Amino acid sequence: MKTVLSQSDIKEVWKKAEGKCQCSEPSHNHYNIMCNKPLEWESRGKADLPGCWEIHFRGIDGPGREYTVEILCCECYKLKKTQHGC
Ligand SMILES: [Zn+2]
Ligand SMILES: [Zn+2]
Repeated sequence: MKTVLSQSDIKEVWKKAEGKCQCSEPSHNHYNIMCNKPLEWESRGKADLPGCWEIHFRGIDGPGREYTVEILCCECYKLKKTQHGC
């Protein structure tokens, strides 16, 4: 199973998210609203930089069996990993 997105795929997701964290996990500090933390494109995967973010795979979905991914800030990404182990 292919689990790698091309750079342009990621850019699409990034544009849709408007460069903000898409997390809406009720158990996080942002409670029931979206995190919406503004992120920096250049800071992907760089936990020591401000605006750090990651691509989070949610699964494969839809008629085209597309990847469902979301942009998460590093804090939400870390929390999700510890909570769901994904
Ligand atoms: Zn977040
Ligand atoms: Zn969150």
